[in-house]
Amino acid sequence: MKPHYVQVRPEDNVAIIVNPEGLPAGTAFDSGLSLNEAVPHANKVALLDISSGQPIRRYGAVIGYAERDIPAGTWVREDLVRMPEAPSLESLALATEVPAPPEPLEGYTFEGFRNRDGSVGTKNILGLATTVQCVAPTVEHAIARIRTELLPRYSNVDDVISVSHAYGCGVAIDAPDAAIPIRSIGRLARHPNLGGEPLVVSLGCEKMQPDRLLPQSQLVNASKGLPPVLELQPYVMRLQDEELRGFGSMVEAIMRFAERRLTELDARRRVTCPAADLVVGVQCGGSDALSGVTANPTVGFAADLLVRAGASVMFSEVTEIRDAVHLLTPRCATEDIARDLIREMRWYDDYLARGKADRSANTTPGNKRGGLANIVEKALGSVAKSGTMALTDVISHGEKVRSKGLTFAATPAGDFVCGTQQLAAGMNLHIFTTGRGTPYGLAMAPVIKVSSNTALAERWYDLIDLDAGRIASGEATIEQVGWELFRLMLDVASGRKKVWTDHWGLHNALSPFNPGPVT
Ligand code: CA
Repeated sequence: MKPHYVQVRPEDNVAIIVNPEGLPAGTAFDSGLSLNEAVPHANKVALLDISSGQPIRRYGAVIGYAERDIPAGTWVREDLVRMPEAPSLESLALATEVPAPPEPLEGYTFEGFRNRDGSVGTKNILGLATTVQCVAPTVEHAIARIRTELLPRYSNVDDVISVSHAYGCGVAIDAPDAAIPIRSIGRLARHPNLGGEPLVVSLGCEKMQPDRLLPQSQLVNASKGLPPVLELQPYVMRLQDEELRGFGSMVEAIMRFAERRLTELDARRRVTCPAADLVVGVQCGGSDALSGVTANPTVGFAADLLVRAGASVMFSEVTEIRDAVHLLTPRCATEDIARDLIREMRWYDDYLARGKADRSANTTPGNKRGGLANIVEKALGSVAKSGTMALTDVISHGEKVRSKGLTFAATPAGDFVCGTQQLAAGMNLHIFTTGRGTPYGLAMAPVIKVSSNTALAERWYDLIDLDAGRIASGEATIEQVGWELFRLMLDVASGRKKVWTDHWGLHNALSPFNPGPVT
């Protein structure tokens, strides 16, 4: 491959080296630029002389200021870039550049499991929710037996999993922030891929009692005039109940409890559903400087297709959009939605301040080796995943997506926490972009892994589902790979194609976000 860099916008004064091995000092480009030192893959090179204190521009935006004079052809390392202040939340433009309603995209469908609550599953999983970590190993013991002794008889059921977590007791259950883990776990228990109806294993003495996890008022599907989808008692069992004598009888009881649900789940069949029934969560992790040029814009293009098809798309990761919030508030459909977005930014600013941290705590050593100087550069690339449509809703941590179109669902940025929170919001398909690579996966919903660079896709040929690195080398366009991703989503949601993490069974533990006190 001949020497090649990618400049995102004409006004940028830095560009990204895309040659997989990096480039040595003295390399000359067609543009006339030559490198005065070696620059690693996905790292930045100065296109012009940048004087000390002058802005460094990427994505047409300021990612920082030069710490000293940076001659053209220099590797723009992290220590040459002074981070700018976060955009003030006080003077943002609200709903000033709302994109026009998109042209509908019709005729795209997938095969899914329709639930009684109206949601649609992309998998048909038996899920055993837990109210407290104390019962999790017992549930896991029962699940190992269910998997070998029961599941083979129910061939329409994909898997059996526990909805377990570190929460439930030893916590200040009445503290205001406790509402976040409680509602998150309650939503996980009712996930569309578990049939939308919970099966709960409780201990008995824990703080998070079953009726606290699943308030009766939320269990009745009154809006559709249907009878209550759940009578609480038959779907909850307690290990401390007196009729259970010894560990063996607990395991037997869980298995009987599970078998009743297996019978119901096994009777279900996939039916043709419009693409509008997808609830897609997009996320990035292990990003590099190419993520914002290849994988994230590809996901953004596919997100636009989903919105046009009437689906729900959510993007998240507060600390990764905080520094790009000035690009999002003008795109909000109304001023109120923009204010909701600002409310979520402010809540997280305060949360970080309580821990004496700030947004600079986000970038990892791997991000930096991958050429990302700071959170500002990471955010500008990250926000590309949201596409170009109007932002039509904002929800808080652990709330459920409530509308079609583009939603910002507040979550932390850490991969397995964000993934868990997006599941709680009702995500039935997950798109995950990566530049450094991660084998991260989720049991509850398929995770389509998109690489930002071809070197990763080739090295991890049995972990990466789609290579967007072809865009950097000019082999494919964002539109082409975006359409490939859209079609892949419909195949995966239909069970016609299996993602690599499901092939290998790479399923991270659920990690609901708990900002509240532990006692
Ligand atoms: Ca992440």
